[in-house]
Amino acid sequence: MRQSKLFTKTIKDAPKDEVSLNAQLLIRGGFIEKLAAGIYSYLPLGLRTLRKVQSVVRDEMDAIDGQEILMPALTPKENWEKTDRWDNFDALYKLQGVNKKDYALGATHEEIVTPLAKKFISSYKDLPMALYQIQDKFRNEVRAKSGLMRGREFSMKDLYSFHVDEADLDSYYEKAKKAYYNVFQRCGLKAYIVEASGGAFTDFSHEYQVFTEYGEDEVYFCKECDRHQNKELVEKGEIKCPYCGAEREVKKAIEVGNIFKLMTRFSNPFNVKYVDKNGKEQDVIMGTYGIGPSRVMGAVVEVHHDDSGIVWPEEIAPYKVHLLALGNDDKVKQESDNLYEKLVSAGVEVLYDDRDDSAGIKFSDSDLLGLPYRVVISKKTLAENQVELKKRNEEKSEMVNLDKIIDTLK
Ligand code: ATP
Ligand code: MG
Repeated sequence: MRQSKLFTKTIKDAPKDEVSLNAQLLIRGGFIEKLAAGIYSYLPLGLRTLRKVQSVVRDEMDAIDGQEILMPALTPKENWEKTDRWDNFDALYKLQGVNKKDYALGATHEEIVTPLAKKFISSYKDLPMALYQIQDKFRNEVRAKSGLMRGREFSMKDLYSFHVDEADLDSYYEKAKKAYYNVFQRCGLKAYIVEASGGAFTDFSHEYQVFTEYGEDEVYFCKECDRHQNKELVEKGEIKCPYCGAEREVKKAIEVGNIFKLMTRFSNPFNVKYVDKNGKEQDVIMGTYGIGPSRVMGAVVEVHHDDSGIVWPEEIAPYKVHLLALGNDDKVKQESDNLYEKLVSAGVEVLYDDRDDSAGIKFSDSDLLGLPYRVVISKKTLAENQVELKKRNEEKSEMVNLDKIIDTLK
């Protein structure tokens, strides 16, 4: 992409009404734009990152036999009444259609996926089975001050698994834990698995928490036995670890994922059953597994930045390389155009700063945008038939021969 053609521009000052760091940096870089509190547009650079996060998630869900579907975001009231959540799900956006028919905008999809799965489950041979989607969810969040980390409309991957019994759910749950670990690792996040309240059905659910100063959750962190708990769940004053007795630390964190054994919480109201090997009817057992790709994107910025801007992890960076042509010299223009075309043909994702701007502007924009590799061509580097290569997360740079740079970046 030629930066001269990019419709967005960097913004010097962060908007005053954005308090969160991720929103400030992402808006300044032209990755996203705020329409209203908790509601953002994804612009070309931001959309590339969001899609990359989603594709990492998709990869890992496919690897645990998730089958991707897309359910409607507009959902009828009846479904929510069946599970008693129409009046009990706080953040549900409700709206009315023709003939006074009531709907909710999808905040989660147990109420939709369960009756859907019922249509295709009759025998034990149909199980286990897992369905997922990546879709915008809508929640009327009371506070929306954390940028992409708490949207009123936000991207969620929600997977639902269906099983013959609890043992089978347990074994799938362990597979999902691993897949979740992979997702966060690939997105450059160190996420800790944390025990949280499981509601009425199991002792615990598990959250994936990333430690960051601006997180909205608090986690009791145990250095000794590596079992951590959401503070919400722990009784007042119980700072000692219930497993090993060690003193624990309270850390601020953001929940990037959540996995939950639903057991029969949703299969019962929708009467989802299967016939077992002995011809006997049994309840289908369910699990639910959520990740917020947009929250992941926000959390990545909270964790990976410095005073000059974002430092994208390579797998989810909008582009891998930022090519900067410095100065108005014809040879520089020609060589950098040339290199840009070659990089594109070689399949290297490159943003090419071909604008008519000063070196100072180009360097500071490059730091703000935070692409993993910066390649600079100037009259000076060309005198040696070289370019300067620098990693965004390192101080030092190196000189590389023009004819070697493509292989180096590949
Ligand atoms: P929180 O306690 O932070 O509100 P939650 O428990 O409501 O989260 P879930 O219902 O489990 O979250 O949703 C699954 C995932 O969706 C979360 O782990 C998070 O990554 C993401 N998510 C939830 N709410 C939001 C939001 N308002 N904005 C962005 N992502 C969200
Ligand atoms: Mg919530």
